[in-house]
Amino acid sequence: MNGIKVRYAPSPTGYVHIGNLRTALYNYLFAKSQGGKFLLRIEDTDQTRKVEGAVENIISILKWADLDYDEGPGKDAGNGPYYQSERLNIYNEHWKYLLEKKKAYYCFCTSERLTALREEQQKQKLPQTKYDKHCLHLSEDEIMKNLASGMPHVIRLNVEPGQTIKFTDYVREDVEFQSEMVDDQILMKSDGFPTYHLANVVDDHLMGVSHVIRGEEWLPSTPKHVLLYDAFGWEKPVFAHLPLLLNPDRSKLSKRQGDVAVEDYRKKGYLKEALINFIALLGWTAGDDREFYYLKDLVKSFSLDRVNKSGAVFDIEKLNWLNAEHLRAKPDDEILVMLRDELKDTEYSGMELTDSYLLNVIAAMKPRVSFAKELITNCAYFYEDPQTYEEASVKKGWKPQSKDILNKFAEKISAVNEPGREDYEKALKETAAEFSVGNGAVIHPLRLATSGVSGGPGIFDICYIIGKETVIKRISTIIEKLK
Ligand code: GLU
Repeated sequence: MNGIKVRYAPSPTGYVHIGNLRTALYNYLFAKSQGGKFLLRIEDTDQTRKVEGAVENIISILKWADLDYDEGPGKDAGNGPYYQSERLNIYNEHWKYLLEKKKAYYCFCTSERLTALREEQQKQKLPQTKYDKHCLHLSEDEIMKNLASGMPHVIRLNVEPGQTIKFTDYVREDVEFQSEMVDDQILMKSDGFPTYHLANVVDDHLMGVSHVIRGEEWLPSTPKHVLLYDAFGWEKPVFAHLPLLLNPDRSKLSKRQGDVAVEDYRKKGYLKEALINFIALLGWTAGDDREFYYLKDLVKSFSLDRVNKSGAVFDIEKLNWLNAEHLRAKPDDEILVMLRDELKDTEYSGMELTDSYLLNVIAAMKPRVSFAKELITNCAYFYEDPQTYEEASVKKGWKPQSKDILNKFAEKISAVNEPGREDYEKALKETAAEFSVGNGAVIHPLRLATSGVSGGPGIFDICYIIGKETVIKRISTIIEKLK
């Protein structure tokens, strides 16, 4: 063990955001590429924001994405428990230590006073609203009296003004904050639970976390954490803040412009391989043109050195492209399982479709789809007779002669026992020759008859897959309908 340990530390406050999955992924990749450990810690100290089922959702998404953690819920105890709500006695010891060292203090201010203070500072147009350290100056006696009378209170970090708080961020290099900009952060809330800042720092230290890799939105919290490490006299981990995720208009990635929950993508039929590949490229590149990766390739190629500082644009077109690429890269029998699964939710669920029939559909459609469900929605004609005929194609491809041409074609085909693709081709060419027309004069009406549309796989594939009886039946239907 080389001492490298990273963590994904989500708060179970709702769905898993694309950005959360990226944080988990980068941590996983860093750990695996360095021979280190990856742990999952549930940061559930904010009782008001807890959401039922959120922990289960986090765990199930990590499992789905194959981001297996070495330590955390469901794993051997190690440094656990990994739910912060089960570690309150540990945090209690630590704020008491800070209190003794005068690095923290009791604050009894009411919310009314804090609101008035904030409003006053806003009125004065101060660059930032901050606690005024009122309670730092309470005497021991006052504090004892207040505590004895059960007065609600919090514990605050005592941030001394006039300091420059410096740290090196792996992604953004040297970062500096003036301590005037840092509020006397609450460490323990009046409900007896620690805030994120205290619990996060204490746990990262006690759990031996060597690298803190998290989203850029946590950068403003880092000076507070640095002060806490210093106050405890602990060595700081390496910090690496990942670039923001942006909408194509470069605003912060938000629900308003599209889905942000991993679950939504999962439900829409995105492959985990594609989503992981896509997310890996949101802020990282190997430095070459390669875009197609499996998780195991990412482990080999990933390095924190190549994480960008600037925001990463979420390009749904690229995700769709990657989904198609990963789908195509799958063996047909795996796609068959997916197709059967998709069929269950359609009107075709009751149909008896053989494996060999569906494998033919897959082979014909694979180059033309991005999602498994499109093996149904983009080619309904493999599952049912065309209900309508595409208007523009009828206009363009259905001629007065089409009826006779198709009749001739049907006649030729009905004479062949179990026709193969080449028999359809032969019948088509002979028909065209007999009518002294180009092949197109047979292909267009035949496409319409068999599929109802003009695009799709090769016409001989379609005919072969749906089979002779269906081809003939569909020809007689179109002739009846279009005359
Ligand atoms: N609990 C924080 C979150 O929800 C963790 C941030 C961090 O990684 O420090 O993302």
